[in-house]
Amino acid sequence: MKTVKTISEVREQVRKWRSEGLTVGFVPTMGYLHEGHASLIDASHRDNDRTVVSVFVNPMQFSPDEDLESYPRDIEHDKELAEAHGCDVIFNPEPSEMYGKNFTSFVDMTVLTEELCGLSRPIHFRGVCTVVSKLFNIVKPDRAYFGKKDAQQLAVIRHMVEDLNMDIEIKGCPIVRENDGLAKSSRNTYLSTTERQSALILSRSLKRGQELIKSGVKDCREIVSEITSVIDSEPLARIDYVKIVDAETMQQIETLDRPALCAIAVYIGKTRLIDNFFTEDI
Ligand code: AMP
Repeated sequence: MKTVKTISEVREQVRKWRSEGLTVGFVPTMGYLHEGHASLIDASHRDNDRTVVSVFVNPMQFSPDEDLESYPRDIEHDKELAEAHGCDVIFNPEPSEMYGKNFTSFVDMTVLTEELCGLSRPIHFRGVCTVVSKLFNIVKPDRAYFGKKDAQQLAVIRHMVEDLNMDIEIKGCPIVRENDGLAKSSRNTYLSTTERQSALILSRSLKRGQELIKSGVKDCREIVSEITSVIDSEPLARIDYVKIVDAETMQQIETLDRPALCAIAVYIGKTRLIDNFFTEDI
């Protein structure tokens, strides 16, 4: 496996593979890789002849008050994990390689970014859409792999690819969890031992929501209210949002009469965690 830092090196490598008739899968990440990321690399390795993983903590998707500086980084560990799962090239650019001095072009999206994380993090999806577009233009993959852990991001990327006619197949992969149910996340390292225990309230509350749905409840307000009260029972938890939205448009709905996404964002102490389920996956 190779690690490259420049756009021209990735391009050269991919061009070479293409000339040999090989297919290319791509897994964009911010690094500090865990088994959630590994599942995406596995999927790409299964579906494609070659796999590129990008490790880039994208400054553009963080607000000034967010955790850009403290975001965990460990490229040596990332290299080991990625290689063990069949990655062929890690693309690990510096911010200056991705954003030149005169950078003034952005990819933005309306509607799908108006709810959920788009409300709490107003510049986030502009940063995500811009960097993912750039990475797609650099790697030019056949397929790209995203986790359902970031469900709104997955919906936004799917929509962007359709709107902008990008010739890339987007694959959504299931959420990988710890044995006790906590969704794996690079940000879990911020949690103290006590907070780590409290963080279980996210997956527990969603499980309660799923039970209600399985028992036939279709009223979204009732489901949201039950999930909210489960989370509120945890003293260290502070809710950012609990919402049920249309699985494609990310707009709030009142009744479960179509495929939907139930998504939550909860602060455990200072750490903001997200989790969700799609009703079609219950
Ligand atoms: P990140 O490095 O957090 O930007 O995530 C990179 C990709 O890995 C995104 O598509 C995430 O949705 C995905 N991912 C992160 N955590 C998980 C998880 N626990 N299960 C599945 N995919 C994940």
